[in-house]
Amino acid sequence: MPISKTDFVRALQCQKMLWLDSHHPEEKIIPPEVQARLDAGNDFGDGAMGIFGEYVETTTYREDGRLHFAAMLEKTKQLLEENTPVVCEAAFSWYGNYCAADILKKDGNSYALYEVKNSAAVRKEFLVDLGFQRLILRKNGVPLSSSHLVLPALNEPLKIDEEGGHVRVETVFHGDIAYKIVDVTAAAKRMERLAEKHIFEFGKLKRKDAPCPLIGVGEHCDTPYRCWYYEYCHGIVSLDGIDGCNTADIHDAVNKETNDGQETP
Ligand code: SF4
Repeated sequence: MPISKTDFVRALQCQKMLWLDSHHPEEKIIPPEVQARLDAGNDFGDGAMGIFGEYVETTTYREDGRLHFAAMLEKTKQLLEENTPVVCEAAFSWYGNYCAADILKKDGNSYALYEVKNSAAVRKEFLVDLGFQRLILRKNGVPLSSSHLVLPALNEPLKIDEEGGHVRVETVFHGDIAYKIVDVTAAAKRMERLAEKHIFEFGKLKRKDAPCPLIGVGEHCDTPYRCWYYEYCHGIVSLDGIDGCNTADIHDAVNKETNDGQETP
């Protein structure tokens, strides 16, 4: 089954999370503060589209309000053929795996890729997100010169996860707002290799007959974000109708197997 960049980032945190997204999304609980943060991120992304001046956006909706991805793919293809200098929400697909790049900016005969995040830090998951996009774009034959994060320019030092390595930062203004553009090309290339290694493996988790991964609760339930299935996996909500996938049950089963297998002195 094809996956999106969001699927990939989520599966890298925990494969069971992607399995639940596909098989039991009704168990998801998104805290209001997290939803507010996601909404603010969308607004920030919309505001950042104009940082390089005029742009063309591919976003297209169906009559029922859902994204019309096929139309976005077609529009993106046409815009690249026309050498459009700046394309926002540029859509690409490879074996059905898909992504939309926030900003693609013509850079000589190549394109520079920009991912917009409303965050004060360069975080590993943003680099993974860029790595996934790089993979899909390059498989579509798009030559990439560099990869960047666009973050708000705040009055505090930029925090960088160790995976970010050495980065180059410049500040640009658009309207009244200052943005930090962080060149993370080297780290994004490393994450592209990671994406290529796991993309099809993660896709299998979405198959109808895929078994629930045998993954117990742990640090990954809170890192980098509190998982939306935290309550479910920690046995806080009703588990009716979801056989064999509750983490507490799995832990018990695994512990029992381990204990049963131990030799008595
Ligand atoms: S709560 Fe933990 S084990 Fe359950 S899906 Fe989320 S990250 Fe995975």
